[in-house]
Amino acid sequence: MEKKPVIQVFALGGTIAMTPGDRSGVTPTLSAAELVRAVPDLVEMAEFRAETLVQKGSANLTCDLISDLCNRAEASDADAVIVTQGTDSMEETSFLASLVYKGDRPLIFTGAMRTPNQPGADGPANLLDAVRAALSAPAGSVSLVMNGEVHDPWCVAKEHTSTLQAFSSEQGPVAVVSEGHVYWRRAARKGHGLKATSLAPVALVGAVLDDDGRMLDMLPSLGYKAVVIEAYGAGHLSELWACKAEKLAAEMPVILASRTRGGRVFEATYGYKGAEIDLIARGLVPAGGLRGRKARLLLSLLLVSDKANWKQTFTAVGKSV
Ligand code: ASP
Repeated sequence: MEKKPVIQVFALGGTIAMTPGDRSGVTPTLSAAELVRAVPDLVEMAEFRAETLVQKGSANLTCDLISDLCNRAEASDADAVIVTQGTDSMEETSFLASLVYKGDRPLIFTGAMRTPNQPGADGPANLLDAVRAALSAPAGSVSLVMNGEVHDPWCVAKEHTSTLQAFSSEQGPVAVVSEGHVYWRRAARKGHGLKATSLAPVALVGAVLDDDGRMLDMLPSLGYKAVVIEAYGAGHLSELWACKAEKLAAEMPVILASRTRGGRVFEATYGYKGAEIDLIARGLVPAGGLRGRKARLLLSLLLVSDKANWKQTFTAVGKSV
């Protein structure tokens, strides 16, 4: 008999594992083994090892936990590793994993928008698709699978609170699942292998209309070591914020990201005070195509793993998205 591939499933909680209990509202209770058992088709496809690491809402997940997860995935002798977790933070946890992971088996994140007891629950289908993707993904790649699509963690974002099609990537999915087959449109990105298990404190601050920027003044005294500013449009701030950001950039890394949901930060178009040319001249570093929250994670890791070269690496990575 042909030997089946082995898949390791790590469960971290989230809606995919939530059930109604004594208290009001659903909470994460299902184990990794229960999630696998709920999808009978899986038995035909692979042999499963299932381990529940935590049962939490995903806003509680930490860098420590994701590093530990990556270590476990690297040490596993399974053919692929699947992580089930809440969707709220999955765009960040999968990105973090893709920055630190250096294993040679595919690592896939998935979850659900509906709880198992809701009509049309999507968890089983997502887990099935995650297994299909895991069995065909490139060695060492990290991806996120939701609603029949495989996404690059560097590009994907949760864009909706409730629809099944909550996740999208500006560049489109790297693969789609159709009739049970995974069609890869481009190669999934491999883990980056950055050496860091903790995050330096990096603030994420959004520019908003007619705000006096007092938050920027407070950052050093709050212990932040850097800041990512989600600026207007292609990378624009008010003149007041531009002065405050320049002052900050003299003492810590200040990244210029965009508060919009797509496109790259400009570097050489607008010439007015507070626009990107001025801000870059004042010491701000453009985030390329990285969204603010991903730029924050990358910078946080670089300040721990390779502080001396943070700017060079950050810029090279920003350009790759
Ligand atoms: N609503 C969330 C989910 O999709 C809860 C969480 O992220 O844990 O799973």
